[in-house]
Amino acid sequence: MENCLFCKIISNEIPAYKIYEDDDFLAFLDISQTTKGHTLVIPKKHYRNIYDVDEDTVAKIHQLAFKLAKQITKKLNAQGVNILNNNEAIAGQTIFHYHVHIIPRYRDDDKISIVFNENIDSNIEETYHILK
Ligand code: AMP
Ligand code: ZN
Repeated sequence: MENCLFCKIISNEIPAYKIYEDDDFLAFLDISQTTKGHTLVIPKKHYRNIYDVDEDTVAKIHQLAFKLAKQITKKLNAQGVNILNNNEAIAGQTIFHYHVHIIPRYRDDDKISIVFNENIDSNIEETYHILK
């Protein structure tokens, strides 16, 4: 898609440290390197995010992310890994080409923190009735 940074990485208009490529998917190092080995996995076909992408692509990208996450963990001697995906700006999406982050975690890394704070205003009963 025009003016999409990740589409330009796919077509080699913009360079990237590509660590995996097949006909449908590409994995490359995230420029921020939040932790050593921070990687993005993307489909070669442009989708905005999960509200746009088809189920088959989601299944395949997660299968690939799962495989790469284990390889990256092993090769870089990480102690764990976060696999995550942001959808829409409110959720932290900044590049609107569907992607999955692989973020290896190391003892004492302090560049990323994922904290689930308690929300005392939440009404879990009401939410349960809406979602069940
Ligand atoms: P998100 O915030 O989930 O949309 O993630 C977008 C990610 O793309 C961020 O982690 C950026 O660091 C990363 N990024 C932006 N530009 C580039 C680039 N040219 N090469 C590699 N990663 C990039
Ligand atoms: Zn794109």
